[in-house]
Amino acid sequence: MGQYRFETLAIHQGQDRQEGRQSRGIPVYRTTSYLFRDTEHAANLFALKELGNIYTRLMNPTTDILEQRVAALEGGAAALGLASGTAAIFYSIINLAKVGDEIIAFNNLYGGTYSQFVDILPHHGITVRLIDPNNWDQFEKAVNEKTRALFVETIGNPTLGVTDLEEAARRAHKHGIPLVVDNTFATPWLCRPIEYGADIVVHSLTKWIGGHGGAIGGIVVDAGNFDWSNPKFALYNEPDTGYHGLRFGHDLGGLQKLAYILRMRVVPLRNLGAALSPDNSWIFLQGLESLNLRMDRHSQNALEIARRLKKHPQVDWVIHPSLEGDPNKKLADKYLPRGAGGMVVFGIKGGSEKGAKFIDALQLFSHVANVGDSKSLAIHPATTTHSQLSEAQQREAGLDPSLVRLSIGLEHVEDIWEDITQAFEKAN
Ligand SMILES: *Cc1c(COP(=O)(O)O)cnc(C)c1O
Repeated sequence: MGQYRFETLAIHQGQDRQEGRQSRGIPVYRTTSYLFRDTEHAANLFALKELGNIYTRLMNPTTDILEQRVAALEGGAAALGLASGTAAIFYSIINLAKVGDEIIAFNNLYGGTYSQFVDILPHHGITVRLIDPNNWDQFEKAVNEKTRALFVETIGNPTLGVTDLEEAARRAHKHGIPLVVDNTFATPWLCRPIEYGADIVVHSLTKWIGGHGGAIGGIVVDAGNFDWSNPKFALYNEPDTGYHGLRFGHDLGGLQKLAYILRMRVVPLRNLGAALSPDNSWIFLQGLESLNLRMDRHSQNALEIARRLKKHPQVDWVIHPSLEGDPNKKLADKYLPRGAGGMVVFGIKGGSEKGAKFIDALQLFSHVANVGDSKSLAIHPATTTHSQLSEAQQREAGLDPSLVRLSIGLEHVEDIWEDITQAFEKAN
């Protein structure tokens, strides 16, 4: 399928037409386990001498199609589906770092990722050093012999900063560490981080890839380029007691290129178990078939709404990476040439109180803690996700109390705009 283009791969990649019962749609393999041919076959599968289906916690034929398809769309070598984007991020880190190791991450992360990095990983012995986005002096100061990865988002939070992926990859590789990119906000249609040097790409499938707010899932894509045989990656160089002393960085023969994603499947996924349901894999495959069309429209609608907000008298400031005059416009033009996705954030005049009133007055928009749905969504972080912080603490966290976050959907842009203007009138 390698010769086909994105739009075609999104619909066909991974499905074996010769296999099974001639089903044109993708079958959902709603099974826990798979028949072994005989005891020798079973023994070979367990010893990784042969690859094949054992148990759905580890692999599933429906999920396998999703994994092949997302890997192809990202230009990666292989992928692993997981129960949520959060699980995908956790596994992406614990599959390269252990107790005593460190990672460096940009500080403009998705809230859940921020909490995982700041409140959970340190309790398990992995130190996370947060730096200002694209501030390479801070990176050079933070990096040391214990650093195992640089983690960034293609488009960050809450102010939609675009990461200079080429520079991030160059800096990471100079220090012998991989670049891990959360590409949820861009999707592979708008940006393919591997083309700029990323080694690992993670996604919350829950958002634009699923696209309709119907299921939770995540995926990790391995570019297959990083050399894990460097002794500082203990997980790849010390013998694995779970696999008779196998060293994942050395002993995989023809599959050596896939060491990272293979290890993630047979170690963290096998024994921590955040498996993706095959029913959800089917939903994400359905979403992928129209991903490019939807992302074009999300981006187009979001840019139009951002332009109109900029001219609205009740608006202080507006951020959308491809908006004329936006501080991220140059990076957006380079990394997101097809459009900058569906997110728009803006500051409403009158601060936190007006922001809450505006949200309450919206009718078409849904007030939810999600993004990346066909439906337009809105939230006011100061009174919800960040309400436990004082105004001073919110500002310190880079969150302006007047900030309203919009995830622009696929409705007619005039209907979206009319809802926004009537909410402004009511908030006034
Ligand atoms: C939603 C989201 C996540 C977490 O994904 P879940 O599927 O909700 O666990 C991680 N990163 C980004 C950028 C997200 O938007």
